[in-house]
Amino acid sequence: MYYWTNELWRLAYLVGGLGALGWVLGEPGWGLAGGLGLFVFIHLRHLRELYVWLIRHPHQEPPVGTGVWGDLFDRLYRYHKHQRQTQQRLRDIIRRVQDSSEAMRDSVVMLDRRGDLEWWNSAAEAMLGLQAAHDRGQHITNLLRDPRFVEYFNARDYREPLTLPSPIRDDLILQFQLTLYGDDERLLMARDISRLHRLEQMRRDFVANVSHELRTPLTVLAGYLETYGEYADQLPPRWQRGIVQMQGQTTRMQNLVDDLLLLARLETDHRAEQAAPLAIDSMLDSIRADAETLSGGSHHLRIEIETPQRLSGIEQEIRSAVSNLVFNAVRYTAPGSSIVMRWRAWPDGTQDGAALEVSDDGEGIDPVHIPRLTERFYRVDKGRSAATGGTGLGLAIVKHVLLRHDARLEIESRPGEGALFRCVFPAERLVNGELQASSAGKASAAGSGQLPQ
Ligand code: ADP
Repeated sequence: MYYWTNELWRLAYLVGGLGALGWVLGEPGWGLAGGLGLFVFIHLRHLRELYVWLIRHPHQEPPVGTGVWGDLFDRLYRYHKHQRQTQQRLRDIIRRVQDSSEAMRDSVVMLDRRGDLEWWNSAAEAMLGLQAAHDRGQHITNLLRDPRFVEYFNARDYREPLTLPSPIRDDLILQFQLTLYGDDERLLMARDISRLHRLEQMRRDFVANVSHELRTPLTVLAGYLETYGEYADQLPPRWQRGIVQMQGQTTRMQNLVDDLLLLARLETDHRAEQAAPLAIDSMLDSIRADAETLSGGSHHLRIEIETPQRLSGIEQEIRSAVSNLVFNAVRYTAPGSSIVMRWRAWPDGTQDGAALEVSDDGEGIDPVHIPRLTERFYRVDKGRSAATGGTGLGLAIVKHVLLRHDARLEIESRPGEGALFRCVFPAERLVNGELQASSAGKASAAGSGQLPQ
């Protein structure tokens, strides 16, 4: 405001002064025009200086200006200097981030919003084979072509990491993790987990080998105990009790070994490749018959088929998973309880996917246990679980079977309000079929929830 007033005074002086001079010389009009012209000339000269300064030497000191121009030059210079300092600070930050990413042993790759490569560290060159000379600007899926990575990248659900071998070295096992940030850009991190992977493999092989080695001795023990059991009436009562107990424990160990071997098998390959459309209604029917035998007819078992969709999967595996859920419902609910097996569209009312539910109206489970139920040997009540003959591996098997079928397990329960186990299958696992709605089923001979070995 102060400078504007000054400028008005300057205009007044020039126009007034030269106007007065013109009036003295008898040409007041020319005097006024001269005053205005001089005023305009001063401003045009400063404008030119500003232009030249901004275009040619913006980093140097600004030209000296008078009045409002001096203030304008100073302000512009200060603003410009501040901008340069901010830019320098940001450049330093970026350099430091790049230096620290460069020092990391994990691969770091920055992708733009289209998924094209922008920047990566040298670990990414060693692990993923990226080359600065010709890969910049390429789409990431042109370089990491594994269909599992392409699917992971396009799904945009990066909550879980993806484990894959390196595209340049089969012996290098990498864990990929994508993160969305900024304006839809993505950060790809890849970690070398080969050592962990080898240890995990050794653990799996060890468990599978021990279980396998235990099978023969257990079969021999079970065989002799069965034979002795036939002659039990000739033995003293104390021995008879011992033989019955030994038979019970041998069966338990055999079930445990079978479950361990089954889990090892489910873990070795990750997807159910030889899937075929399943007849869910007849499968549920036979599981119900087995469950009725297990419960001795003391539970009310019902089947509800609410969708004609058919599931594409490996029947033995799905049967094993559902049997585990239904047998658990029989074991962990009191006689007289109701158990429902339901095949339905999921989420409700849409054709997006389908769910196989097993629900009961038993005692239910405290929600604090629910996140850990699928862990191996996790039991809510250890004593009760052992008494029911469970191996502690049932829900772990269910989880692995579902993983191999791109499905997930949801558990809903509250103490005193029963439990619901829902196996949710995605739309890709469904086939439109001839399945008719039915809720019937007949009892049949007992069977187990295990897969044939
Ligand atoms: P287990 O062999 O001990 O049954 P699972 O993995 O099949 O092992 O089940 C883990 C635990 O989950 C069980 O010990 C039991 O406490 C609980 N559970 C499973 N199903 C039910 C159910 N329908 N109602 C109540 N508790 C259940």
